[in-house]
Amino acid sequence: MQILSLSDLWSGTLGSIVSYIIIIVILLVTLLVSLRLLITRRKIGYFSMLLSLFLLIVQYMQLIQFQLIQTVDETAAFMALILKISAFVLVNTGIYQLYNPTKLRDGLVIGLFGLATAAVASSYWFIPGWLEGSDEQIRQMQPLGLELYLFVLLFVSFLIVNPRIGQNGKFQLMLTLYFCAHLIYMANKYLFNGNQLALVKLEEVFPMIFHIVLFLFIVERIIELMQAIYNSAIKDGLTGLFNRTFFYNRVNQHISQNIAVSIIFSDIDNFKKLNDTKGHQMGDQVLKQVAQIAKEEAEPDGVCGRYGGEEIVVMVLGTTADNAAVAEKIRARVEAETIVTVSVGLSHYRTPLKTEELIKQADEAMYKAKTTGKNKVIAYS
Ligand code: GH3
Ligand code: MG
Ligand code: MG
Repeated sequence: MQILSLSDLWSGTLGSIVSYIIIIVILLVTLLVSLRLLITRRKIGYFSMLLSLFLLIVQYMQLIQFQLIQTVDETAAFMALILKISAFVLVNTGIYQLYNPTKLRDGLVIGLFGLATAAVASSYWFIPGWLEGSDEQIRQMQPLGLELYLFVLLFVSFLIVNPRIGQNGKFQLMLTLYFCAHLIYMANKYLFNGNQLALVKLEEVFPMIFHIVLFLFIVERIIELMQAIYNSAIKDGLTGLFNRTFFYNRVNQHISQNIAVSIIFSDIDNFKKLNDTKGHQMGDQVLKQVAQIAKEEAEPDGVCGRYGGEEIVVMVLGTTADNAAVAEKIRARVEAETIVTVSVGLSHYRTPLKTEELIKQADEAMYKAKTTGKNKVIAYS
């Protein structure tokens, strides 16, 4: 009886099978994570990613089968190549769809790739009629069209997919790994008849790294999407400031810990008139400018929120004198840098004020600034 040594798990048939099993496990984990994404986001676009992972798993199971039976007939070799190419195209489609809404046009592009693949695939069956040589030579050359086509596809995804997605570094690394794996495979096959063991090992290791990077790519995208969902729940879409609820809760947190804070409540002067005379778009633009100024003055310790239509609130920590200076700075910068002015109210926390009362005091002070000439800071007294 033969005894298995550790090196058998690395080299030879068993070594290859072990590598493929590792890749299949990585693919299964990636598939589970993608399935979760599809279920939570319910976007049909994520379906191609799942399908591509499924095809990849079938592809590696077929490679295991080839290792076990050792002889591969013409048709099986052809199917394996078609599977490999389809999986590659679908992975790229899936990655593209992780970052872009699905459009009808995308379906047309995929259809076009299908046609091109079919055209190139036909060369597999015509090549024996075109070439002269021994059976062995012709058998070797038969898949050349499809193998070269894979290089074209790599180039095309660099050109089409890469500029339209995020995480470009990871994607470029994936394409490079795939390119290297394919090049090594070609070199081994055409220069050494597939017998160079070191190259065979590399052919297995490169895809392994490729699939780990693909897994990381998908996980990173999921985190990005979750972050975006969280952000849209706590932030205002126009100004990027926190929304009223989030702002209120943050003030509440500080007050419940008895931390002295001040509230700066600002409202744009005559904003309705600006909207009426210069248009709503211009109004939005100005609102964003004012928000940006308030944010710059509030950071890094303060919190800045959009309280209502054109009301921007800031919570600042620090001494009352410092906070009054921040309020004045905001007012002065808005006057100097935009086409509007703001009226600002200021209130300071003292026990036993409640959160609503503290904000209401700032609002009342702002109202006083409005009724006494606008474009000024008034502290609640
Ligand atoms: P006052 O100096 O007394 O504050 O006058 P005002 O015109 O600024 O106050 P008023 O409350 O009468 O009008 C506020 C206007 O702000 C009404 C609304 O059309 C506008 N507004 C609210 N939200 C937005 C927004 O998101 N974008 C734009 N462009 N306008 C907005
Ligand atoms: Mg106003
Ligand atoms: Mg208002």
